[in-house]
Amino acid sequence: MKVLSVLTTLWLFVILIGVPFRRSEAQEHNYTADQLRDRLADFTETEIRFNPDLLDSQQKKVVNELYDAANIMDELFLDQVYSQNDAIRKDLQQSDTQWDRLALDLFNIMFGPFDRLNHNEPFYGTKPKPAGANYYPEDMTREEFQQWIDEHPEDEEAFTSEYTVIRRHDDDLVAVPYSEHFREPLTKAAEHLRQAAEHAENPSLERFLKLRAEAFLSNDYYESNMAWMDLEDHRIEVVIGPYEVYEDNLFGYKAAFECFLTIRDPEESAKLERFAGYLTDLEKNLPIPERYKNYDRGMESPIVVAQEIFSAGDTKAGVQTLAFNLPNDERVRKAKGSKKVMLKNVNEAKFRKLLKPISGEILPEDQLSGVTFDAFFNHVLMHEMSHGTGPGMIEVNGKQIEVGDALKDTYSTIEECKADVLGMYNNIFMIEKGEYPESFARETWVTFLAGTFRSVRFGINEAHGAGNAIIYNYLLENGAYVYDPGANRVRVNHDRVYDVVEELARKVLIIQAEGEYEEAKQLIDRYAVMSPSMEKLIGKLDHIPVDIKPVFQIKQLEN
Ligand code: ZN
Repeated sequence: MKVLSVLTTLWLFVILIGVPFRRSEAQEHNYTADQLRDRLADFTETEIRFNPDLLDSQQKKVVNELYDAANIMDELFLDQVYSQNDAIRKDLQQSDTQWDRLALDLFNIMFGPFDRLNHNEPFYGTKPKPAGANYYPEDMTREEFQQWIDEHPEDEEAFTSEYTVIRRHDDDLVAVPYSEHFREPLTKAAEHLRQAAEHAENPSLERFLKLRAEAFLSNDYYESNMAWMDLEDHRIEVVIGPYEVYEDNLFGYKAAFECFLTIRDPEESAKLERFAGYLTDLEKNLPIPERYKNYDRGMESPIVVAQEIFSAGDTKAGVQTLAFNLPNDERVRKAKGSKKVMLKNVNEAKFRKLLKPISGEILPEDQLSGVTFDAFFNHVLMHEMSHGTGPGMIEVNGKQIEVGDALKDTYSTIEECKADVLGMYNNIFMIEKGEYPESFARETWVTFLAGTFRSVRFGINEAHGAGNAIIYNYLLENGAYVYDPGANRVRVNHDRVYDVVEELARKVLIIQAEGEYEEAKQLIDRYAVMSPSMEKLIGKLDHIPVDIKPVFQIKQLEN
């Protein structure tokens, strides 16, 4: 009896304690091995190359320290995504069944057991992702959070802060600052930043790194965000800390840790500076009446072109970022604006691995050679510059208002559409200015058409995809694109394309200038749709990866 009861107890113990760490093959998983394999195939391994010769030996030391700090951001973000992440990763690492190996690969891409390309469906186990990620207690509801703030108004600031997590303490909810909650890893990261600052010869970089190290421990990021905007004459462009709030699907309050470790690209930066000198000419050249042109836009945000050395945390999970615009702190934006950093080598990687194969499927043979990285990237740059042209403050019913306020929910789609159309239109203008050779026109048209299919694959419900769909369908309707149903390919009609692009640019700019909400809505309803030829063409792209899986050239730079 005695023995039996000990065994029974032991058995119970195994069952109770063993459950969370049960071998995964015994568990029920949402995804089969085939499903894991399919999803993994959506991410094609791609080396992210940068030019190490742009760094001197001191700068390499700085980069090495920042790389170590960045690796800590990976771990912090992993914890922010899901409370079980550490246990699940261990579980997957301990086994070498095929399912576990595949799941571990996908786990590393997704930063957790949820499929970011499929509305966060769990692939490991069956438990859905908590809306509040690991920022809040899993069982806490929106109502409970709201009620706590109603009853404890003095807690509101700490509870809604982007730099705290919410935890239960007995029957209470408490806000714990990141600096406390993540004290140990943040102390280590701060130490690396201080070491990096020691090596930094650029005073503005040294200052930013020291202030950011302090912020990790004080939880106050304001001064260091200001210092990031003050960086000048620096080669190393780094962002490290908590920034975006998209991972918090409960409230959108809490910021996720990430790092972009990049170096400024001197050649492209010089080109941008030269182009910035054309802003007035570009405005003058817009295909709208003079009274709608906007010559005083004041200080615009600077644009920087950089090569990514390493990315970590939030930004690395799932689909890779092509550009970022930071900081988000409105106080800093008011005082100093924000900075847009375009990652040239990530653009290049996506061009090579995604856009090229897409063109091969959708364009006719004789237009394929027009698809070039130069045309792709110059359009990306001109898209950004074009956001800075056209109507800003407008007059509606005798009142001065911003275009965005007039166009409301249609604004972001119209604005992205404008930037894409003008991206082409303005690049053609740059040919007239002698910045590009004549032959660049053909590349501009053809490359943009191929690029449309890279974006609309992600859907046309979001501003960029919708803007692209408007252009595709409008140009097709007006004979600038010609679809061949037999071959299931679409071509640029070079005789028509410039005129139709100009016409669409005029349409969109006048909608903005006159604040015509109804016109905007009509344009979107009619053209931001998945038209039959689009659908047929997208159907050919199933076997092409959706994104890249970055393989970073840096491990540790040789000093
Ligand atoms: Zn844009």
